[in-house]
Amino acid sequence: MPKPLPQKLIESLRGVAGFEEEPFLNIHQSGEQVTSIRYNPAKISAVQIDAHVFPAGKPKAEMAERQVENAGDEKGNETPVDALPTQNPIAWCATGRYLSQRPSFTLDPYLHAGAYYVQEASSMFVDHVIKFLYQEKAHPERVLDLCAAPGGKSTLLATRLPDSFIVSNEVIKNRVTILAENMSKWGCSNAAVTHNDPADFKRLPGYFDLLVVDAPCSGSGLFRKDERAIDEWSEENVAHCSLRQQRILADVLPSLKTGGHLIYSTCSYSVAEDEAICDWLVNEMGLQSVSIRVDPSWGIVKTLSPECQVPGYRFYPDKIKGEGFFLACFQQLKEVEEKEYYHGKLAQLSKTETQLVNYWLNTPDHFQLFKQKETIIALPAKWKNEFATVQSALHVRKGGVAIGTIKGKDLVPHHEFALSGLLHNNIPVIEFDETQAVRYLKRQDIAVDSGLRGWALATFENLALGWMKLLGNRVNNYYPTEWRILKP
Ligand code: SAM
Repeated sequence: MPKPLPQKLIESLRGVAGFEEEPFLNIHQSGEQVTSIRYNPAKISAVQIDAHVFPAGKPKAEMAERQVENAGDEKGNETPVDALPTQNPIAWCATGRYLSQRPSFTLDPYLHAGAYYVQEASSMFVDHVIKFLYQEKAHPERVLDLCAAPGGKSTLLATRLPDSFIVSNEVIKNRVTILAENMSKWGCSNAAVTHNDPADFKRLPGYFDLLVVDAPCSGSGLFRKDERAIDEWSEENVAHCSLRQQRILADVLPSLKTGGHLIYSTCSYSVAEDEAICDWLVNEMGLQSVSIRVDPSWGIVKTLSPECQVPGYRFYPDKIKGEGFFLACFQQLKEVEEKEYYHGKLAQLSKTETQLVNYWLNTPDHFQLFKQKETIIALPAKWKNEFATVQSALHVRKGGVAIGTIKGKDLVPHHEFALSGLLHNNIPVIEFDETQAVRYLKRQDIAVDSGLRGWALATFENLALGWMKLLGNRVNNYYPTEWRILKP
């Protein structure tokens, strides 16, 4: 039996737009759990993910038919993802899918290959917001996801904004590791992961075109998923979170450029963390609110903040299929002074090293190569100044794609490179079946009878899993120890 909700929360929500006590309590008591994923269109198609997550739901023949449909037009252009018929789609995110039950994600090679991310459906609304904001405008060049771990919004931004430079930041040290891992798996070459306090971004005044602040909050929106949050909830904590949200926003806002946008979100129902913050952003920070067009059939409740009538978007689990979520959007119209940025120097490779690395890369001309200590990094060439600037101002945990290190005359490839999609097709590939793939991901011994020697990419259904070294009749498994599946 699910835990009862805090009475003080219910009392505080009476009269709040969209709050209906009985259906709200009923849905929390129902025990219903919603599972959703967002797939990675840089790695797989809509047809492939649907065949993978709904294999029993649709006859194979229909899947095959859709495969033909998606073969594209006579010019070879693929049907846009948004135009495809999908099973269990999430209305506000073309790459989102509801699952009818929760599978064992841990044992699914697709997850480890970065083919999808397990993400709460409501929070995928950010996808719609970005699409709406930039439908007729140039995409934002420099994007900061300030509170980014474990990486749900950052991987979404990387998909929705493939031509932007994304700084994905997390202040809590032990959460940066999982953020970096998820960004590596997703194959983000246009991103940097940083470990900084929001106040550190004052070093980059007027720098970003888009800020995403998915703020730490009292967490009432996730009560169905995490019952411990019910015990931890208190009015004092809501007040504490509200003050912390203001502090975080006040610290980071100087880095937003004139004309730039802020997307603010929480997974709290409390007005003090939602609409009250919106009023504060307009009254105290001088931002302009931005309205987002939303299809009324989606069940999202549009609210207006009490003082400044800022439009906000509320997600209630009794009205949508997902958890509690709040989002509002703003624009900076004040003149913000931009600095002349110093582009720190990136350590260059020698000509021989460049030639060696270029042999491994599918489109070397698109990339700037540089070294961080011994590791060779590839970054889309157009972002080299941005990366150098960010590196000179912030604590960068990773940036671009780690390609590997040079030992003697050879490249020892980095795991991140295997998952990046940057690999040339001259590199040998060994396709595994599911049993072998899981053994590989557990870092167990595997037998490969290929007759080849040297580095090879392990794949499952053409999705890259990682490296192995073929040594005649032996194989060295190079799957990173710290990422291996521990589940028996
Ligand atoms: N955006 C993430 C996603 O989609 O996967 C979830 C972010 S979670 C709601 C809030 C994040 O803020 C957490 O990763 C937390 O560690 C971080 N955080 C906690 N205190 C913070 C602070 N004072 N300043 C900035 N971030 C903070």
